[in-house]
Amino acid sequence: MATNNLESIANASEWSANLDVEMPIRERDIPGFEKWINWNSYNPNLDRDGEMIHNGYDFAAYYNSQGECVLGLPAETVVRAIADGVASISTCAHPEEQVRDFYRTMILKHNDAGLASGYAHIIPLVEEGQIVKKGDPILKLYKSPGSEWGRIVHLHFYLGKIPFDGLPNVNDLIECVDPCSVFGQFSCLDANPQNAQIFEVPQLQTTRRVIAHFR
Ligand SMILES: [Zn+2]
Repeated sequence: MATNNLESIANASEWSANLDVEMPIRERDIPGFEKWINWNSYNPNLDRDGEMIHNGYDFAAYYNSQGECVLGLPAETVVRAIADGVASISTCAHPEEQVRDFYRTMILKHNDAGLASGYAHIIPLVEEGQIVKKGDPILKLYKSPGSEWGRIVHLHFYLGKIPFDGLPNVNDLIECVDPCSVFGQFSCLDANPQNAQIFEVPQLQTTRRVIAHFR
């Protein structure tokens, strides 16, 4: 059942702000959480290889009740299905890539039109092909033992489409859209520069920045 006059995802053919979805991470699941910090946003420009620079949004940093900007989420943070769907899980082939890159990923296929949500740097809590309901816990965040970079526990989250029937792999998602355009209730503070270990948040006057949850 759709709530608040929002459209059920079952029959939708495009991502939009009218869909009945919930955020992949509930704010109350993070102790002291006040507001998301947009640390590494969607960037549809293409890199030298013709790939989108950043096909999703990183849930990586937040402002807390102590007035701190925290980079890195608690590793035990539970991530939930944004809508009903079927799970498809993939694992990077090479151990080196697992540390450096996506580790494991999950895609939820939400309907016959191929709308799908993607989740990377994760530990699945569901099985391949499992049917999940909106709000079900589907994964935990992955805490890398590798590089300092990899230790910033975060969720790379993306919304797109899969162009065929059946269960997709992480590379199969196309036409990725900005998640911020779909979650209407989603506002956040901006990190400047983006995707950096040392950043400022211009909207905040005085804060301490803390890199946490990476050991
Ligand atoms: Zn990302």
